[in-house]
Amino acid sequence: LKDSEKMEFKAETKKLLDIVAKSIYTDKEVFLRELLSNCSDALEKQRFKQVSGSSQGGNDLYINITTNSKDRELVLFDSGIGMSREEIMDNLGTIAKSGSQAFLKEMKDKDVSLNDSIIGQFGVGFYSTFIVSDSVEVYSKAEGHNGVRWVSDGSGEYEISNADNLGFERGTRIVLKLRQDCREFSTENELEKIIKKFSQFISYPIKLNGQMLNNLQAIWYRDKREITTDEYERFYESVAKTKIPYKYLLHYSTDVPLSIKALIYIPSTHNEKYGIQNETQDINLYSRKILIKQNCSELLPNYLRFIKGVVDCEDLPLNISRETYQDSSLMNKLRNAMTRRILKLLEEEARKDKPKYNKWYEEFNNFLKEGLTSDTENSEALFKLLRFNANFSKKELVSLDEYIEKMKPSQDKIFFIVNPQIESAMNSPYMEPFKGTDFPVLILSNNIDEICFQQSGNYKGKSFVNVETSYEEIQKDLGKKEESSHALSKIPEDEIAPFSLWLKNELQPQITKISLSKRLKDAPAVIVGQQSSSMRMMMQMMDPSAA
Ligand code: ADP
Ligand code: MG
Repeated sequence: LKDSEKMEFKAETKKLLDIVAKSIYTDKEVFLRELLSNCSDALEKQRFKQVSGSSQGGNDLYINITTNSKDRELVLFDSGIGMSREEIMDNLGTIAKSGSQAFLKEMKDKDVSLNDSIIGQFGVGFYSTFIVSDSVEVYSKAEGHNGVRWVSDGSGEYEISNADNLGFERGTRIVLKLRQDCREFSTENELEKIIKKFSQFISYPIKLNGQMLNNLQAIWYRDKREITTDEYERFYESVAKTKIPYKYLLHYSTDVPLSIKALIYIPSTHNEKYGIQNETQDINLYSRKILIKQNCSELLPNYLRFIKGVVDCEDLPLNISRETYQDSSLMNKLRNAMTRRILKLLEEEARKDKPKYNKWYEEFNNFLKEGLTSDTENSEALFKLLRFNANFSKKELVSLDEYIEKMKPSQDKIFFIVNPQIESAMNSPYMEPFKGTDFPVLILSNNIDEICFQQSGNYKGKSFVNVETSYEEIQKDLGKKEESSHALSKIPEDEIAPFSLWLKNELQPQITKISLSKRLKDAPAVIVGQQSSSMRMMMQMMDPSAA
């Protein structure tokens, strides 16, 4: 080998380089994510060599970034595995060749699994440097090899030469001479922002101009038995951007249907109750600790927008830019799996500690009800989470399952009345048929509850019945004979018909039929309609002319 030689990219390569630099990446700033991902891979490979005993190297594994805004210069150094002259030609001289993929394959052939820690796969990330640079210099040294220098301006040629006195024993230093219009990437503030955004959770220390940047660990990757409450809390503060403690926590990993490592927090309060703000979806999608999408609203249905946390999916089929994923059906699978898991968590927590759950419920019930009107697939799981007052439990809220336990053997329906005041519900004439019986009746505090009931019609095969609208059915269900009341028997028969006619004329057109009831005990009359009074109110609110 000559000490210095000029090589040319193949013709197709030139074109590719252009495409890569200009069109794959929508945001210029991602070049930093790509370089840091490469640093992390190089360090991971070196760490692996050390633990497997195939490297003598010490264990100081780190990333050092320095900037010089006056010269528009940005320098990244990692003490990772480094590259030999051959490797640099192979890996940086051939677009779409990923040394990391090759490394993984080699390890797999040796039956060693490193799968979830190596980020690289496409072999194009490095070229994103040419989006922002006039020229890129790479100095690298692998163990047992000479140092080497590679330089290119991304126009189709690169130059490679031996290099001594690199100032480091092992690793890679990349020097970017930034383009005039990209000089912001040599300012410390800008860099700090970008690094924290994408690469905050890289497992190796990153220093920027001597300052440590990433002191947060990707705790979702760690064994939960080793994580303290304090660490979970600190992490929550960083994702949810709040000091108010969370209510529930879910840290889990699974391989079905996708490899997911997730850390999900359920807050104890939210901002929507003030009516000014919509909850932001502070749920971030990562792949191997590298941010893919912040506030990833596709990860959960909208009604779960109060959830905070991190979902890391290592085998999400990413686009080459790594900014999006390719397969939306897989995304749907991921969303469904996450949704089911979160609803299950809430159910478990509700069972574990009722008062704690009820307090949470008070704060968040509207989100669940919103879910019931939109997510029919999970309606049973959502119904399980609802809580109500009831004629058999006026102080403590009850669940539908608790209601079912109270049902009489002959009963196959779930009775409810809508009234925000428990006492006035209990005294309602519509409750009269239930007096002196111990049939359970739910007391719904608002119309939204009723809308949820109407939407799905039943829970576990038991239909919801509004006591205001279903007198006849109720009578059947209660299985009681109509007993003639004393008051009624005192009215002479021939006075009833003219009275009914008069009443009907007076109240027309609001009333279509007057009929005699023998069921009422204390109340003189009730209005029975197709819709309950609360529904009528809702309809009027939506369309006042229909009143
Ligand atoms: P990918 O990371 O997807 O493999 P890149 O274009 O980012 O593709 O990098 C190409 C290859 O160059 C890597 O697979 C790796 O072998 C090599 N490489 C890049 N940066 C470094 C580095 N800092 N240290 C060692 N090897 C590197
Ligand atoms: Mg890469």
